Amino acid sequence: MAGTIHEPARETPVIGEYDVIVAGGGPGGICAATAAARAGAKTLLIEKYGFLGGIATAGWVRPLLGVRPADGQPVIGGIAEELCREMERLGTAAPYDEAMPSGRINFDAEGFKFAADNLVGGTDAHILLHAMVAGAIVQEGRLTALTVESKSGRQAMLGRVFVDATGDADVVARAGASFALGRPADGRVQALGNVFQVGGIDESRYPSKEEQEPIAERMYQAIEADEVRSYRWHAGHVGPDPLRGQRTYNITHIGGDPTSVVDLTAAELQARQDVWGIMDWMRREVPGMEDAFMEVTSPAIAVRESRRMVGLEEVTLEDLVSARKREDAVARCSFSVDIHCPMGRVKGRGFTCGTHCDNKACHMFTDHEAELPHERRIGGGSWYDIPYGALVSADITNLLACGRCVSADHATMSSLRVMGPSMAMGQAAGEAAAMAAEEGIEARAVNVMTLQNRLRHNGAAV
Ligand SMILES: Cc1cc2nc3c(=O)[nH]c(=O)nc-3n(C[C@H](O)[C@H](O)[C@H](O)COP(=O)(O)OP(=O)(O)OC[C@H]3O[C@@H](n4cnc5c(N)ncnc54)[C@H](O)[C@@H]3O)c2cc1C
Repeated sequence: MAGTIHEPARETPVIGEYDVIVAGGGPGGICAATAAARAGAKTLLIEKYGFLGGIATAGWVRPLLGVRPADGQPVIGGIAEELCREMERLGTAAPYDEAMPSGRINFDAEGFKFAADNLVGGTDAHILLHAMVAGAIVQEGRLTALTVESKSGRQAMLGRVFVDATGDADVVARAGASFALGRPADGRVQALGNVFQVGGIDESRYPSKEEQEPIAERMYQAIEADEVRSYRWHAGHVGPDPLRGQRTYNITHIGGDPTSVVDLTAAELQARQDVWGIMDWMRREVPGMEDAFMEVTSPAIAVRESRRMVGLEEVTLEDLVSARKREDAVARCSFSVDIHCPMGRVKGRGFTCGTHCDNKACHMFTDHEAELPHERRIGGGSWYDIPYGALVSADITNLLACGRCVSADHATMSSLRVMGPSMAMGQAAGEAAAMAAEEGIEARAVNVMTLQNRLRHNGAAV
């Protein structure tokens, strides 16, 4: 039955009052809450799951990317580096200094969770887990409170400055601030995916680099013959200990809108069908995997792209391609455009969207070719700057965002979404939020030069 119902008005208990409230405890939110608390702001970090880490831990993805251009200096530092070094100390990530030249930091999801607990827990920030931000109270263009739904019912917390680190710009949406969703042509976002970890692999017999190509070829044939639903076979990502016989596979593509609970449900069910089918195939086809077993499918379907806040400034493909450097930079991104097919396509030999795709029958070629990115790399192979204005809501004066829901166009968001830049933006947003709260000013009035100096002082690469 369609239609609406009228819910009676009710009194909602206020359970706290804060200088800075960060919604979402993923890579961006962890760094934002840590930065804000260290800057002296009374800070609350709200997370819907029972653990921190976002897609690093709920999506089971690795390695940490976007940390360094192929031929340059690290583009992360500060709190992101601390988190990596804490994982290293726990024995759950590759040694930071040794891994950095490769541009990727291998880690274990469990280590990420615990390191995040230790990092945020080492500050005065309060953490509220199992609490889903459900509403936002706005008065005269300012956000005054968030409401959460949890096992305790509906509760509210008051704040002076807010950081949306939900990845989905949930706070932006609930506050009625403007956002974009999907690419202009058809509103579709990048494919969702379930990254799964397999254990019990006999690494001594696992295919060498040369032996992997024929397996990938057999996988393409199996996909074409509808024997398996995947978009490729790859060697799998290993954690800090490559000999442990565990690998994670990022080889599923599911189409869908991550802001629709119906689509999310369908995606979860489809993904598990696909993953178990792939698992059977790998046991049959990949040497060393005969006795392998499924250790974990990602606790939640992993979302590459969702709502993008409309900010004071938008980071664009032109900025990326020209490796634009800016005076108002607060973070750097060294990761290229990486749009996983928004149609959720699994057939064919390419899986990213752009003029390079071989699926010329796609409506993006027949009807919207001008919108397809021609150039996907950062000019000179270096980095582009992310300006402060991309972190500040255009509508709500005390609302910032960080991570994959900042103000960027569809193509550029596919680059700055990875964990390195998400964490760098998190530190910047948290520091800026603390400054705005302390000075009692609007987020847009934060002095960017002072912000940059504070970020540099705290180790960030700006
Ligand atoms: C399949 C896949 C593979 C990827 N592979 C890699 C990779 O190899 N390397 C890499 O660096 N990046 C990779 N990424 C990208 C990267 O993991 C994310 O883009 C990154 O985690 C973004 O960080 P974030 O903090 O902005 O968002 P998220 O990691 O999404 O964190 C958002 C947090 O907010 C919480 N939240 C959401 N809504 C609410 C709410 N209403 N109330 C309370 N809490 C809420 C979520 O539970 C989550 O903890 C991959 C992404 C996907 C989908």
